[in-house]
Amino acid sequence: MDYVKGMKFFDPHVHMTSRTTDDYQAMADAGVVALIEPAFWLGQPRTGLATFKDYYNSLIGWERFRSSQFGIKHYCTIGLNSREANNEVLAAEVMDILPLFIYKEGVVGIGEIGFDDQTEAEDKYYRLQLELAKEANLPVQIHTPHRNKKQGTERSMAIALEHGLDPGMVIVDHNNEETVKSVLDQGFWAAFTIYPFTKMGNERMVEIVQQYGPERIMVNSAADWGISDPLAIPKTAALMKIKGIPDEAIRLVTYQNAIDAFAQSGQINVADFENPQAIDQSLKFNGNTVLRGGQQPRVDKNSIVIR
Ligand SMILES: [Zn+2]
Repeated sequence: MDYVKGMKFFDPHVHMTSRTTDDYQAMADAGVVALIEPAFWLGQPRTGLATFKDYYNSLIGWERFRSSQFGIKHYCTIGLNSREANNEVLAAEVMDILPLFIYKEGVVGIGEIGFDDQTEAEDKYYRLQLELAKEANLPVQIHTPHRNKKQGTERSMAIALEHGLDPGMVIVDHNNEETVKSVLDQGFWAAFTIYPFTKMGNERMVEIVQQYGPERIMVNSAADWGISDPLAIPKTAALMKIKGIPDEAIRLVTYQNAIDAFAQSGQINVADFENPQAIDQSLKFNGNTVLRGGQQPRVDKNSIVIR
């Protein structure tokens, strides 16, 4: 990690709700200064509207606070994920409450939405949320399917264009070598998730940046409750440096492009994370802290004392 010492990173897709304080600490130490947590599927289907409500509230509340306790600026995108669009009764109820959350401070887009199995219901709720994004003038963060990826990605983009969205407001995620050219050619942002032990490892990511250049490309970890790596961005930046990618290109794909794409929400002020943020772990959120009984709060970013 010495290769990327002093560099700043922005992870535009990471599910911190599923991660530990150790992850937050490691990310902060590796240079991650800000992140976006998209609303997603929790690994098993929710059975009622109230759990959606509580989840969205946690993304703009407790999780944002938890992140701040490690000096990382936390943003989120709010949406109905594709899997749960298939529970149509519940999906309709979720649509009704989305407007209560998407205009909140720090919400930088509608996401992550799109296709999983490419069902009729997914199509319906994807379209409804594109309309919502248009109305709210918010960027859209698209989850592309892992099965039939190429077809699903093309379909997602075609529908976005059909609904009159500016491709410059749409971030297409989970790209690979098969999808990237078309996404860039059509003017969308192309995001790449670095998945450990699977398809999109970071050596392939280096090759994509070598081939396509850094414009409108961004890297994310999409770390969640599954096997994933919250340090995927700093590690990829280090590998890019070793492989001779210019510093400015690395900065664009691991930091600046994500900011430019999501700042179109009007919700990102870079001053909030460009300079080291003061950490005060004695702060509380609704009476709760990240500390456990007897632990000493860390109030200085430069010293970590474990007692
Ligand atoms: Zn995700």
